[in-house]
Amino acid sequence: MFITDLNPSGGIGANSMLVEMGQLRILIDAGMHPKLMGYEALPDFSLLQGEPLDAIVLTHCHLDHLGGLPVIARAHPATPIITSLPNITLAPRMLRNSVNVMKRQRSEHNIREYPLFVHRDISAMNRQFEGQRFGKLETYRSRGETFQIALHPAGHVAGAASVELVSSAGRMIISGDMLFDRQQTLAGASPPKDATDVLVLETTRGITERSEGCTRESETQRLIAMLNTILERGGSCLIPVFALGRMQEMMTLLANSRRTGALRSSPFFVTGLGVDLASHFDKIARQTGLIDFDVSVIEELGAVPPDPNLVPGRRPSKNGIYLVSSGMLVEHTPSYQVAASLLGYPENGICFVGYCDPQTPGGMLLATEQGERFLFDVYDYSTPVMSSVDQFDLSGHADRDELVSYAQSVSPQTIVLTHGDSEARSWFKSALAEVLPQSRIIDPEPLQRYELIGNGNV
Ligand SMILES: [Zn+2]
Ligand SMILES: [Zn+2]
Repeated sequence: MFITDLNPSGGIGANSMLVEMGQLRILIDAGMHPKLMGYEALPDFSLLQGEPLDAIVLTHCHLDHLGGLPVIARAHPATPIITSLPNITLAPRMLRNSVNVMKRQRSEHNIREYPLFVHRDISAMNRQFEGQRFGKLETYRSRGETFQIALHPAGHVAGAASVELVSSAGRMIISGDMLFDRQQTLAGASPPKDATDVLVLETTRGITERSEGCTRESETQRLIAMLNTILERGGSCLIPVFALGRMQEMMTLLANSRRTGALRSSPFFVTGLGVDLASHFDKIARQTGLIDFDVSVIEELGAVPPDPNLVPGRRPSKNGIYLVSSGMLVEHTPSYQVAASLLGYPENGICFVGYCDPQTPGGMLLATEQGERFLFDVYDYSTPVMSSVDQFDLSGHADRDELVSYAQSVSPQTIVLTHGDSEARSWFKSALAEVLPQSRIIDPEPLQRYELIGNGNV
């Protein structure tokens, strides 16, 4: 067995890995880097050119795993794309949004190769999907060889799967992005428990230590208390969220908190792709029972789109809770616009509920002290940070210690690290070496081919 990480920049970027099991060639995910643009944002697919590809497996529909899929599907139109049933509903919706974003960026940033794919490619790709139920080993045949794939619930976000690959060459588990905690709308991960030859492990939270007594429950309560404080002092609150998963999760959480009286009543604003995805989540809940979501929460919250004409530095005409994407305050998104309206006033507050990359406006704001100036580049508007800015640990990724004990439980011969920056991987490398001294741990260099069972580098 061999593995090649096709994510050219390392870290969390354009996730994609080529797995070779005997003659079989299987691609796991085909993402797009969230911050790079043009061809640079794609995995390096050149190694796949002119070679057969027996299957593509899609773990989940966040764009760092999905965003490049139409490009590679177009190059291999006969290759099946194996994924969970919710992903077959969510993937086309996410990708159609990407086409529109790329078309806009083509003119804004003069990127001539954009869009990297068009709506027609998405329709063609849809025909390659082969849906699989969770927990069942399915057999496939390609070029005279037989292999098996099972998908297991990975928590994290609706549809997310850990992948189990079995062939005569051996057995491999790929964690995918994974969360063991139960969320409001989704059960936690239940990956395979028996011993494996190879484990590919996500390492997102390798440098995040959870402080004593800090749980999902206690962080939720702290968030609700903060929202009440902001509303009581006559302010507005911005909760920046990812459109896929986190927005529907927060809608449900806040509606539940209002129902019990824990959260004060207030005007409520939502907009964008996440609202549209909410109706897809509702459909998935009804059809598969895999998530617990009812689109009627939008009505229950009285949620309406925010004033489209919010002006940087000017308070919104109506105070309330703004639950809008993007989660990292990326430029040209509703959360960026709302933040520019709220940040200069002490009664307002911004509550981050997920990870922010340090290079994004959200990450930069978190690193800015109260009273220091913050620049909204797009508007050429700067203001001292007057509103409160807080972060709540409601991550969609498993704690590092949970991942290490999971690895321990399947005692792999070889562990391959993925989906984390280099410090995060280093932590895992030493933590895993301690509990699994017999296992070989590979932190793969991009585009290098590693032999997984046997001697090592090739
Ligand atoms: Zn993800
Ligand atoms: Zn990811």
